[in-house]
Amino acid sequence: MKEVTPQVEIIAETKMDFEQLQSYLDSIGATEYDPHSAESDGESLIMAAGKACYRSWQPGLNPNVTRTRSDTKEYIGNIISTGHGSVLEHTSVSFLIYNVSRVFTHELVRHRVGTAFSQESLRFVRLVDIDFWIPQVLKDEDNADSEGVALIKEAVEYLESVQEKLAKIYQIDERKSFAIKKKLTSAFRRIAPIGLATCIVFSMNLRTARHLIPLRTSRHAEEEIRLVFSQIAEILVERFPNVFQDFHSRRVGGYREWYAENASQPYDKSDYELRNLEQQLEKLESSEEND
Ligand SMILES: Cc1cc2nc3c(=O)[nH]c(=O)nc-3n(C[C@H](O)[C@H](O)[C@H](O)COP(=O)(O)OP(=O)(O)OC[C@H]3O[C@@H](n4cnc5c(N)ncnc54)[C@H](O)[C@@H]3O)c2cc1C
Repeated sequence: MKEVTPQVEIIAETKMDFEQLQSYLDSIGATEYDPHSAESDGESLIMAAGKACYRSWQPGLNPNVTRTRSDTKEYIGNIISTGHGSVLEHTSVSFLIYNVSRVFTHELVRHRVGTAFSQESLRFVRLVDIDFWIPQVLKDEDNADSEGVALIKEAVEYLESVQEKLAKIYQIDERKSFAIKKKLTSAFRRIAPIGLATCIVFSMNLRTARHLIPLRTSRHAEEEIRLVFSQIAEILVERFPNVFQDFHSRRVGGYREWYAENASQPYDKSDYELRNLEQQLEKLESSEEND
């Protein structure tokens, strides 16, 4: 058994073709609009998608529009607060999440909207060594002899040895047919622990990210998914500061818990309202300090 820690890498994100957008802008005479003004391609696309809705690239193109917002923070802030959420769906990000258990991946794949998943196949990939993350709570709450953690390691090592024994008993390495190897590999995995570390490629759009981050970093979520989503949140808040401009966080139970001022669906309304009150209090205190 090898002890591992869940890891998150962002491996792709939406990229703009500014030349093509410029051709369209030239064709409608939107000469004042600067498509490069946003911090990232993802935010440029969100702005372009929103502006396409009302032809609000600059005043005068649509006779009904006399005033337009050109500042990215202000523009995307207005989209978020008015709930014009579909434009956020144009920008996507992809993560390679590894050293995570099937406990985690099973929870993750419950999210159906604006997501895509490709998970390591244990029908094809035969288990040899089992990588395993031990939740921090099991270490923190263990007794002085670390009996609990020792027992977990022993159990995982035993299951690892079962995989090796099964491979020998069923002579999988001697088999010529890949079809039978696949069937046996798939059957052996039934005796593996659900906590074995694996990997998954996970893509989502930024509207979905706004929904999932508060849900999955909440103190009520499971430790592993909190750990992963707190890493995802750090990455996205830094890359897309305007899309996540209303997100705030604080440390609760060892991990960051994130919440949004304009949440699509507060996970726990009473917690959310409490946090809003706390935030207002903090603002009040800092404005008093500044006075
Ligand atoms: C702390 C926690 C504990 C949980 N415990 C359990 C458990 O014990 N057992 C269990 O089975 N699951 C459990 N879940 C999973 C949970 O029930 C959801 O399946 C999961 O969180 C997916 O989120 P979502 O419903 O927001 O769906 P997503 O697929 O992420 O969809 C996003 C939003 O789109 C809308 N939407 C999506 N699909 C539909 C639809 N078909 N019809 C109408 N609107 C839709 C909803 O507004 C939804 O919130 C738990 C989740 C959390 C966060």
